[in-house]
Amino acid sequence: MKLSLIVPCFNEQDSLPAFYREVTAVLATVAYDYEILLIDDGSADQTLAVIKDLAEKDERVKYLSFSRNFGKEAAMYAGFCNVTGDYVAVMDADLQDPPALLPRMLQLLESGEYDSVATRRVTRKGEPPIRSFFARKFYQIINRISDVDIVDGARDFRLMRRKMVDAIVSIRESNRFSKGIFGWIGFKTYWMPYENVERVAGESKWNFWKLLKYAIDGIINFSGMPLAIASWGGMIMTLLSFLSLIFLVVRDLIFSNPVAGWASTVCIIIFIGGIQLFCLGIMGQYIARTYIETKRRPLYIVSESNVNPDNDVRRNDADK
Ligand code: UDP
Ligand code: MG
Repeated sequence: MKLSLIVPCFNEQDSLPAFYREVTAVLATVAYDYEILLIDDGSADQTLAVIKDLAEKDERVKYLSFSRNFGKEAAMYAGFCNVTGDYVAVMDADLQDPPALLPRMLQLLESGEYDSVATRRVTRKGEPPIRSFFARKFYQIINRISDVDIVDGARDFRLMRRKMVDAIVSIRESNRFSKGIFGWIGFKTYWMPYENVERVAGESKWNFWKLLKYAIDGIINFSGMPLAIASWGGMIMTLLSFLSLIFLVVRDLIFSNPVAGWASTVCIIIFIGGIQLFCLGIMGQYIARTYIETKRRPLYIVSESNVNPDNDVRRNDADK
């Protein structure tokens, strides 16, 4: 049995040596053959040099280097396409996904009962409170409005069987939201809770706006609810305006009314105009995504690598 680790790295020159040291120490304690696939996601620092250095010393270290920054989702997808292991795990390079959990995760998969072992943080220690608050709200909302189950605090750190990897690779959408994809493909998953760990070196690549955009991606990719809200809102507004029209006509017939109240009319026009634009915007979000998906651009472009190109599982697909 072979284990593959997928590690997306974006400007991780300072964390990588520590990551490599810790992972190899842990993997030395388990009886598996393994490979570590480091994906350099267009880093601007010395990440690629550090990676090449590791690859030179240890042939179990494989790498792919992107031509630019394509994002963590693309890096994970590239990983899934190019690993050869029977068991595959995704891990962050900053040691926030403790390698020490791996032996226990492997054990759980070996027991045969589960197809995947996923991790979830039970604390958000060391995170700005406002970020935790919005993160919680996001999980509440998305679980209510979409049919996939997305666990609060779920990390991308998970170990899975080959069949799950094949399922993930078969999902081709370019706007990826892995937390949703993992839930969508199903399979039996064991959730392993653990305490949040702070990154060893460097800084988090996420700021508030990036996270907000990620959250909107998640919602739009896995739910049509915003569209439904728009059409329901439209219907309710139409009904209300119809009722008020009747009210006005009746009132005018009973007490003849001089011209008055233009201010309120303007308010109403602006209000309705705003709602219309908002709904158009929601539709636009879906249409824009449809547009991007129909272009079928590759999710990433590799500029350098030491991975055997035959490993790429998409190679044999007719519609690559
Ligand atoms: N990452 C990446 N591409 C990006 C951003 C991040 O490959 O555009 C990698 C990063 O190197 C790290 C992982 O994704 O291994 C998680 O990133 P980070 O630690 O910044 O996120 P956080 O842990 O704060 O959620
Ligand atoms: Mg991190």
